[in-house]
Amino acid sequence: MQPPVPKHVVGETVSRADDRVNCSSSMATSSVRPCPLCKHRNDESPTSPLSRDPWVIKACENCGFVYLVNPPDVTELECELAWEKTSVDETARRRTATPIAAVFGAQVARFRRQVLARRKLKSLLQRLASPGPVLDVGCGWGHTLEENLPDGFTPWGIELSVNLAEQARQRFSRLGGQVFQGDAVTHLREQSPGFFHAVTLIAILEHVLDPVELLHEAGRVLSSQGVVVIKVPNFASVNRRIRGRRWCGLRFPDHVNYFTPDSLVRSAKKAGLHITRFGLFDRQPTSDNMWCVLSRTS
Ligand SMILES: [Zn+2]
Repeated sequence: MQPPVPKHVVGETVSRADDRVNCSSSMATSSVRPCPLCKHRNDESPTSPLSRDPWVIKACENCGFVYLVNPPDVTELECELAWEKTSVDETARRRTATPIAAVFGAQVARFRRQVLARRKLKSLLQRLASPGPVLDVGCGWGHTLEENLPDGFTPWGIELSVNLAEQARQRFSRLGGQVFQGDAVTHLREQSPGFFHAVTLIAILEHVLDPVELLHEAGRVLSSQGVVVIKVPNFASVNRRIRGRRWCGLRFPDHVNYFTPDSLVRSAKKAGLHITRFGLFDRQPTSDNMWCVLSRTS
């Protein structure tokens, strides 16, 4: 099987030129977005009290899915609203609003991220995927996959942020992989069917405008025995119900989808994928995140 042919590998001259154009674009919100799961238009639906001006959250009146109705354009998320910038702003805002909770929450999140999550990702890849190319969609600066990479796996990545994609490229190219900068679905469509032994979607499904399409494309590039590993915030968590607007999973404007275990399963099935693993331990209501493993066949 032929490896995927990249159109925009980060670091190429053309890509850098494009980046400069994107980074100078002006910020503007896009038009009202239908429900990403059932496509119902919720123009007349009430605005959720979880919204934060100017960003509007609604629960779909047809299927109940909670999502951001007026997300920013993709080009804004590449630079002006890139994750590494908005996350710094959000952390500062939380420190000011609730300083003790913010510090405690950051420590818990750091422990989960550095110890529990990393062990889990590496463990899932080792047990459920065979060695070969693994694609991390929304790879950030590449540290998560690099630190969780079992022997025999080659890291590939897609990352929207221009700056983070460049850092990931430097990490992954040393290990034989490649990184594409830009929209996830666009770059997934450019990959060869069945090439990857695993696709990891770690904290990315909550960011994309069409999560069902992303899952469908992830399944398309997956080998017949491959797996899609998902980590996503759990909107049904106890912490979200208690903390409401102060829940750590609410991120404006980069989180545009808010999944529950039920809506995650519905999304996977709608994308034509099968649930390989989604046990009680993977979707504990006491955790702010849930893990799910999908495959092309049951
Ligand atoms: Zn809906």
